Amino acid sequence: MTYSIKGDIHTHTLFSRHAYSTITENVAAARERGLEVLGSADHFASMISPTVHIRDYQFFINQSVWPRMWDGVMVLRGAEADILTLDGGLFGQDIVCPENIVGRVLKGEQTLFECTTKNLDYLVASIHYDEFAKNATLAQATQMYLNVLDNPKVFVLGHTGRSGVPYDIDEVVLAAKEKHKLIEINEHSFAGGPHGSCVDTCRKIAERCAELGCGITVSTDAHISLDIGVFPRTISLLEEIHFPEELIMNRDRKTLVGEMAAAGVCDLTSYLEE
Ligand SMILES: [Zn+2]
Ligand SMILES: [Zn+2]
Repeated sequence: MTYSIKGDIHTHTLFSRHAYSTITENVAAARERGLEVLGSADHFASMISPTVHIRDYQFFINQSVWPRMWDGVMVLRGAEADILTLDGGLFGQDIVCPENIVGRVLKGEQTLFECTTKNLDYLVASIHYDEFAKNATLAQATQMYLNVLDNPKVFVLGHTGRSGVPYDIDEVVLAAKEKHKLIEINEHSFAGGPHGSCVDTCRKIAERCAELGCGITVSTDAHISLDIGVFPRTISLLEEIHFPEELIMNRDRKTLVGEMAAAGVCDLTSYLEE
């Protein structure tokens, strides 16, 4: 069988600094490819800036100016947050944010994570710098992903097959399933990464999702608009293992929005009537 996939919820814009398109260009590409949903998830990580001030991340705080329905494409406001600690800590959670972007002192103690992500719809949580997990046991790495899934903003575990941190796939997949959160199968992973080919790992993860009934998202991780909505290698991998289409939660807008609401990350179901 072949799959019809009408959402792409892991994409990058110029903000990510090693990506090359604007949100407007990405939306236009999504519309051209016939997508119903585009999720923008730029890096929320130290790779963006050597400093850690809210000014460096203000790109994320004003995304309500993006039309929710933009030229017929539903646009989701997200970020790809780095996982940084074995207890599942995400970038910005241990950084105090004392002031807003114009320097006004904020009341109460808020973290950079809270200030930056509070208006976003969802997070993809991924590992890019795996040094902290180098000597982790399988149990510790598994617990890390379980803790990440407990974060109310996290909807997707990003490219776990490529990150170089082995974990107990069944345990994490079952926890994701229970929370209506998604395991990502990432097209960009098949280009190879610092840990070499991860096709076998990605296939194994997809197979366990199929067997245990856990939803996945097929994502491009596009860093240029040309790549939006283009996932041939992921699709052929899923075809090879006869992956059930009903578990591809970004296959259409209705399914995806329903799953986000079920996961409790955001409720956009009112837009489905439009
Ligand atoms: Zn990533
Ligand atoms: Zn990415």
